[in-house]
Amino acid sequence: MKFPLLIPKFYANLIDWKDQKDPLMRMVVPSSFEDSAKEYEMADPIGDKPKTVIAGLIHRYPDRVLVNLTSACAVHCRFCFRKNLLCENENVVKPDVGKILSYMRDHKEIWEVIFSGGDPFMLKAEFLKEIIGKISKISHIKTIRFHSRIPVVDARLITGKLLAALKTSKKLVIVVHINHPREISKEFQKVVQKFQKIGALIMSQTVLLKGVNDDTEILSELFRELVVTGVKPYYLHHLDAAKGTHHFRISIEKGKKIFQSLRGNLSSICLPEYVVDIPGGFGKIPVNSLKKIGPKTYTAKNFENKTIKYVDHI
Ligand code: SF4
Repeated sequence: MKFPLLIPKFYANLIDWKDQKDPLMRMVVPSSFEDSAKEYEMADPIGDKPKTVIAGLIHRYPDRVLVNLTSACAVHCRFCFRKNLLCENENVVKPDVGKILSYMRDHKEIWEVIFSGGDPFMLKAEFLKEIIGKISKISHIKTIRFHSRIPVVDARLITGKLLAALKTSKKLVIVVHINHPREISKEFQKVVQKFQKIGALIMSQTVLLKGVNDDTEILSELFRELVVTGVKPYYLHHLDAAKGTHHFRISIEKGKKIFQSLRGNLSSICLPEYVVDIPGGFGKIPVNSLKKIGPKTYTAKNFENKTIKYVDHI
């Protein structure tokens, strides 16, 4: 199934529709390149499936679990690493929240719960409040984190009800997905202030995308503006090999050069960590720790101290 076009009106208004190369347009308008997936591209590029312990619950790293309770998003990003999973959702077993909570209770090593998706802020505020309340009663869980692109693409969906639900959380962490300085709208800035008022720690993640932000100046402006807005740049992701995304991909060597020049120019408070997810579910590793062993081949140790091979297909 194709990943349908979905652009909220708010985000459409941020796009310069007269400019065929507008980076915001590039992120959301389908391209014919999507139909010609490369042989190395995958439906599940970061290995969510092998690490899924219960439908809707991924346990990859020892002290944290990822909860996916919705496949809905406010926007369809053409480079999305979960787009194939979002498309096939109708055939997938629906999450059983009771089972998910009892897994969390039984696994005392879990310190943090991360809501991802889809976009967790698409869930109903009442439902979120209920599940946050149940997780907050589990004493070994200390932090609840939400990853969302909604504050960027349709800030008006961050309602008073949603904020009230989030406010009931244990230490609340919100990671906003933002890729370009033009995505820092006035509405986004206001939402960040609202998150601050409810005591959230706010961070950002950015995907390095060809033709969008593969440029030191653009990324410098983005990371500086985020810090001024009250958001700590957290991760810069090397693009995952999801099917039909090769037109967004740059090489590891180019990514390293860009990151090196950011390091040389930016205050360290503006610098995220540049990471790559190793296919197969082996987790994230800092790109700088990749050791080159061949023209396109690297090795690195992952969080389990396993030596993993990574192939850069560019
Ligand atoms: S909002 Fe996130 S999960 Fe949804 S399409 Fe965009 S990148 Fe994928």
